[in-house]
Amino acid sequence: MNDRGGDVVVVGAGLIGLAIAFELAERGATVRVYDRGEPGRAASWAGAGMLAPYTERLTDEALLEFCASSLREYPAFVERVLAASGIDPRLRLDGVVHAAFNDADLQALKHHAQALAARNVATEMLDRLSLLAAEPWLGSHVAGGLLVNGEGRVDNRRLGRALVSACQTRGALIDRSSALRVECDERRVLGLRTDLGFVTAGAIVNACGAWASQLQGVPPACVPPIEPIKGEMFALAAPVDFVRHATWVLGAYLVPRDDGRLLVGATMESAGFDERVTAHGMHELLHAALSAAPSLRSFAVTESWAGLRPGTPDGLPFLGPTPIDGFFLACGHYRNGILLAPATARLMADAIETKTDAELRPFSIDRRRTEESSPGRTTYV
Ligand SMILES: Cc1cc2nc3c(=O)[nH]c(=O)nc-3n(C[C@H](O)[C@H](O)[C@H](O)COP(=O)(O)OP(=O)(O)OC[C@H]3O[C@@H](n4cnc5c(N)ncnc54)[C@H](O)[C@@H]3O)c2cc1C
Repeated sequence: MNDRGGDVVVVGAGLIGLAIAFELAERGATVRVYDRGEPGRAASWAGAGMLAPYTERLTDEALLEFCASSLREYPAFVERVLAASGIDPRLRLDGVVHAAFNDADLQALKHHAQALAARNVATEMLDRLSLLAAEPWLGSHVAGGLLVNGEGRVDNRRLGRALVSACQTRGALIDRSSALRVECDERRVLGLRTDLGFVTAGAIVNACGAWASQLQGVPPACVPPIEPIKGEMFALAAPVDFVRHATWVLGAYLVPRDDGRLLVGATMESAGFDERVTAHGMHELLHAALSAAPSLRSFAVTESWAGLRPGTPDGLPFLGPTPIDGFFLACGHYRNGILLAPATARLMADAIETKTDAELRPFSIDRRRTEESSPGRTTYV
């Protein structure tokens, strides 16, 4: 189906690699996905599954528009994944609440609501009593809040399982291989060396998340500067619907799951590839959650975990073609990779199949590097 004369190989079976493989397979391409670990684990399993571009307060206009368009695409994407897999990823777009605990923060939320109104994003300012009626678990010292309509959450672990099954139903092969190496000449990609031998490929996609800069065999001009940003989280066993909306409080967010798990996240730390859960990380999150809502204190902690966000110097992902023909990047989704899976899959499939990549240009590896005025920081324009 694609005009590159060969199979598409995706390296990395996180939500990004799996979503691209699913999209391409649905369009009729021959796709193979390779991962050295379990598909759908890594950051895609560790994330909170919040779909909240406006609550995230993204400042880059291209990234905000990309996230907003992916949010719009989510319902249809989930329908297609459900139809192919029979697994419901439990998409809930019932809004995200941001709670304020003092007048200054409440004022900041009002300004944010005005900025969102100018973008035609529907919001509701909630006074203290309406917020407590909507989310009675919040501490009585809450000052008020903002509900951003249309944002929400998805169960990212179920989505990972669903995508694995959907890929297989649509004919994409998912293989495990630990020592992968891209082979290319100075102009174009040739194929992938795997544990089981050499696989020719018309196109190869680097979807290796936080490890994307370590993929072997790639020329320096095609290596994305990705840095792992660690995030720790834990889960409480709460009654179903105890917390109704995904809710941001000072220093943490809480995301309810339909099975009664209440996720609390997430720390942000540059700690290399360390994936340990630490006393300090748990202390920070527990302090933030219990300060906002003392009513949570009696629930059992059922799980804790950490994952690595694929961070980039300017906060934007690396997407689309590279100087080596047939070698593509789909990495660096940082805090929003779960949200960005549908739009990434669609635009990457367009770029691979038909070489249409205008919408991906803001996220190209070719964006120029410039030093920002703050010493030691590199930005990409
Ligand atoms: C604590 C936390 C909370 C988050 N919350 C949210 C949220 O609420 N909403 C949101 O949108 N995003 C969230 N994120 C971010 C989101 O999880 C990531 O942006 C997204 O999962 C990245 O997906 P990925 O497929 O690129 O990477 P990953 O899911 O990390 O997958 C990369 C895959 O590549 C494989 N791989 C790597 N190198 C190789 C190699 N050399 N050979 C073979 N395989 C390789 C790995 O084994 C892995 O399976 C959160 C992240 C964390 C850690």
